[in-house]
This record gives sequence, C-alpha cells and structure tokens, in this order.
Amino acid sequence: MEIRRSEPRVAVLTAADLVARDTYIYRLQLDQPLPFTAGQFVNLTVPDARPRGERSYSVWSSPEDPSYLDLCIKLFEGGAASEYLRGSTVGDTLAIRGPFGIFSVKPEHDPVIFVATATGLAPFRSMLEVAVTAKDPRRFRLYFGVRDEGDLFGLDDLERYTRALPDFAFQVCLSRPSAAWSGFTGRVTNALSADFPTPTEHFYLCGNGAMIEETRDLLKGRGLERKHIHVEKYY
Ligand SMILES: Cc1cc2nc3c(=O)[nH]c(=O)nc-3n(C[C@H](O)[C@H](O)[C@H](O)COP(=O)(O)OP(=O)(O)OC[C@H]3O[C@@H](n4cnc5c(N)ncnc54)[C@H](O)[C@@H]3O)c2cc1C
Repeated sequence: MEIRRSEPRVAVLTAADLVARDTYIYRLQLDQPLPFTAGQFVNLTVPDARPRGERSYSVWSSPEDPSYLDLCIKLFEGGAASEYLRGSTVGDTLAIRGPFGIFSVKPEHDPVIFVATATGLAPFRSMLEVAVTAKDPRRFRLYFGVRDEGDLFGLDDLERYTRALPDFAFQVCLSRPSAAWSGFTGRVTNALSADFPTPTEHFYLCGNGAMIEETRDLLKGRGLERKHIHVEKYY
C-alpha cells in the first residue's frame, strides 16, 4: 500500500536513550518502511502543540534501513513537544508525517563543510552514514558547537567517520567549557573565522537561527557566493 507523506502514520517508540543533557535519541519503529533521503525531517504529531499540532525533527539514522527512524531531540522545560515526549515511554504509539525537506548534500558539492549546533548534528549524522557506505571520497569537514561538555553527544560516531571515510575531520567547539576542557573554546563562527579566510567550499548549516545568521554573515562578508550556503533552521 502506498504511504502518503501528508498523512499521519503510526510509529512505536522502542527506545529513548539519554545521550547528553536533556537530549535523547528516540527510536520510532514504523509499521511500514519509510524511504527518505539523508537530511530530511519528519513531523511528530503533538496533541497540545500550537499552532500546528506538530513539531519537525531531522532524522538522525541512516536511510539505509527505512524500517525505523532515530530522532535526536533536546527537551525544553514547558515546550509542547518536549513535555509530550517527557511523558511518553517505550511501547507508546506516536504519529508522524513525512519525510519532508530538501536539506540534502548535493553529490556535486566538494569540499563540503557541515556546521551544526546541538541537535543540528542530526541531518549530518544521517548524511555521513550514507557517505561511509558509499566510501565517499569527498573532503568533508564538520564543526559541532554546544555550550559545554554536558551537551556533547555523537562523538563516537564522529570518531568512527574519521577512520571510515577517506577525508573527514571534525572540530568540536564549546562556548562555555569547564576549566578541564583542552579542546577548542569558542563558537563555531570563531573556528570558521580562523579556518576559512577566503571560503570557496559549500557550507551546510543546521541548528539555531542565531548561529545560522552569524555564520551566513561571516561567510558572505568574506566573499562566499550565496549559492554555496545551505541552511536548515530549527527555531
Ligand atoms: C526542519 C526542522 C527540523 C528540526 N529538527 C530538530 C531535531 O532534529 N532535534 C530537535 O531537538 N529539534 C529540532 N527542531 C526543533 C523542533 O521542531 C522544536 O522546535 C523543538 O523540539 C521545541 O519544540 P517544543 O514544542 O518542545 O517547544 P515549543 O513549545 O515550540 O517552544 C518552547 C521554547 O523553546 C524554544 N526553542 C525551540 N527549539 C529550541 C532549541 N532547539 N534550542 C533552544 N530553544 C528552543 C522556542 O523558541 C520557545 O521559546 C527542528 C525544527 C525544524 C523547523
């Protein structure tokens, strides 16, 4: 039976793993496979959410197994979806629509620079899983910004990509780390500012609107063509 992406479909919550402060990876087992392209998102039905009755979430898992979706979600106090998910337990039935979106890395783009804040890592994780399977020879760089060590997640995957991909490296950027932190301190824009004095690459940005605006301003100010900047803004 054909599934229409505009119609809600049933998914069973089969795992809810805490991976960082208030941040979970939820596994949704689907009644039928849901083909999607890495970088796309689904809409979760949230009964009390205004105005739309749903919230969007990028898919964290690889499209190579469309029988389930992993979503990486940060919960906020008082947020409609956040409180709904806080009250959900493994075995519960949820409703989703999708997939939606066009935020997918184009095959002709090389080198590719991914820039994520917090759960903005999700679409890039899905894309990089595909790249690993394809043994994608392109140059991929990823900048991952969060506030402090308690917000970090996904590092095992990023380390794995450095080994599994021909040309991948990543930079974690902590804006307010503990005194014990010996890595890069600052925002993703600080790291990009140092590393790309005259950018020509394709930049994919995902996360909060402030980061996206600052990064866009930085890159455009340094002469990067608008068509080299690709964005997925969460809020
Ligand atoms: C295309 C798309 C993909 C998205 N993918 C993801 C994803 O993979 N993971 C994920 O966690 N979120 C993702 N989001 C954000 C998500 O849709 C919700 O906005 C978020 O979960 C908050 O929903 P809520 O109902 O709990 O809070 P709401 O009731 O909508 O809002 C509560 C408050 O939290 C603020 N807020 C919302 N999101 C954030 C945030 N990320 N950081 C800080 N403050 C915030 C709002 O401005 C508001 O003030 C995505 C958004 C879009 C548009």
